Amino acid sequence: MLSADVLVVGAGPVGTVAALALAQQGLSVIICEAGADCAQDLRASTFHPPTLEMLDELGVADDIIDYGLKAPTYHFRERQSQQVIEFDLTDISDATRFPFRIQCEQHVMAGMLAKRLEEHPNATVLFSHRANSFEQDELGVTVAVETPLSIEKIRTQYVIAADGGNSIIRKWLGAEFSGFTYPEKFLCVSTKLELKDYIDNLCFVNYIADPEEWLVLLRVPSVWRILVPAAETESDEKLLSDETRDGIFSRLIGKSDVETYHRTIYRVHQRVAQKFNHGRVFLAGDSAHLNNPLGGFGMNSGIHDVWNLQQKIAQSVGDGHDERLFDLYDRQRRTVTHDFIQRQTIQNKELLEHGADEGHARRFANMQAIAADDGQRRSFLLRQSMLESLSDAAAIE
Ligand SMILES: Cc1cc2nc3c(=O)[nH]c(=O)nc-3n(C[C@H](O)[C@H](O)[C@H](O)COP(=O)(O)OP(=O)(O)OC[C@H]3O[C@@H](n4cnc5c(N)ncnc54)[C@H](O)[C@@H]3O)c2cc1C
Repeated sequence: MLSADVLVVGAGPVGTVAALALAQQGLSVIICEAGADCAQDLRASTFHPPTLEMLDELGVADDIIDYGLKAPTYHFRERQSQQVIEFDLTDISDATRFPFRIQCEQHVMAGMLAKRLEEHPNATVLFSHRANSFEQDELGVTVAVETPLSIEKIRTQYVIAADGGNSIIRKWLGAEFSGFTYPEKFLCVSTKLELKDYIDNLCFVNYIADPEEWLVLLRVPSVWRILVPAAETESDEKLLSDETRDGIFSRLIGKSDVETYHRTIYRVHQRVAQKFNHGRVFLAGDSAHLNNPLGGFGMNSGIHDVWNLQQKIAQSVGDGHDERLFDLYDRQRRTVTHDFIQRQTIQNKELLEHGADEGHARRFANMQAIAADDGQRRSFLLRQSMLESLSDAAAIE
């Protein structure tokens, strides 16, 4: 039977960060991934300053910065008037050594880390290995993993479930995943067409408020991504059609028949697991919480979860299992998830979407007031860059 100090289930951004951090601390780690490679879909694209600080401690920030696009500024734009409110992270240069966001596809980062893990003497990477079920006792956890040809068992002291929103581990734990699912769907299309040639004063990250059709325009090295809401009554076939694509681009830049590289429909949820620690099994990232993508917090907060957790696991492997450390992990990360991530993402969506009669103009005017006031702008930047959420979590005992 294969064995290690820790098994990480899922080689997404959260699982790969967890595994590399643990391996670098000298623990033996197995990471198993159901897919034949890291998932290639286009989801997270923004790395916030504190996440870059963590990746820097792992020695991978430089590669991500070299590959990605540096975005010191981001914009809120009112679509009808084209008024732009700019926020500039260089205003908080005293609070972080990375006063910018990096725009980089999440699968690029996960792939870079998986490669490092494959080369690391403390790590074993198992692609095409899907965790199926597990049993835990006082000393550890035995996980049954399905490979293309067999079921294998892996024995470890601890398991990190970084297996995403549909986590099989969370389901086996019976952990309630309460919250709600937005009725509308989200449609994400991507193009290599240079949108800056069509829209004035566009930066790499643009949140565009509109009572009729809000949207998010994000640049990653490979493409521009456009995220729009779509009626729940619309069929997926219609949403993925050329007709829908032409409508989006003609309203945006007065041009149709634009070549696209991805067209993906997402259901979006706001959900948090009722507990993140279950004996020797821990939920982290999307297996523990889901939120809408407005603000770019999902992957980043998942990485912050495992950054917190890996330190506690290393301490427990060294000094003996201490349940109180993992209760603290749950308190610190679940509190921040509820008080900041869930609340802020819901607010961020409201800012963009509400109709003209629901205070659209007032909300935008509030944002202008925040940007114009030094103190309010600084608080806003510290909050939206996620720096504040980490100091809030650290203060929880
Ligand atoms: C449109 C969109 C845009 C987004 N933009 C951002 C953004 O800009 N910034 C941000 O921070 N977040 C963003 N997010 C959220 C972000 O994509 C997720 O929060 C992030 O992917 C979570 O990472 P994870 O590693 O926890 O889970 P996943 O990325 O879902 O990875 C889970 C991995 O586990 C594997 N797996 C699943 N089950 C098993 C099993 N039983 N055994 C083994 N392996 C298994 C899967 O194959 C997968 O590789 C966005 C999401 C969407 C939908």
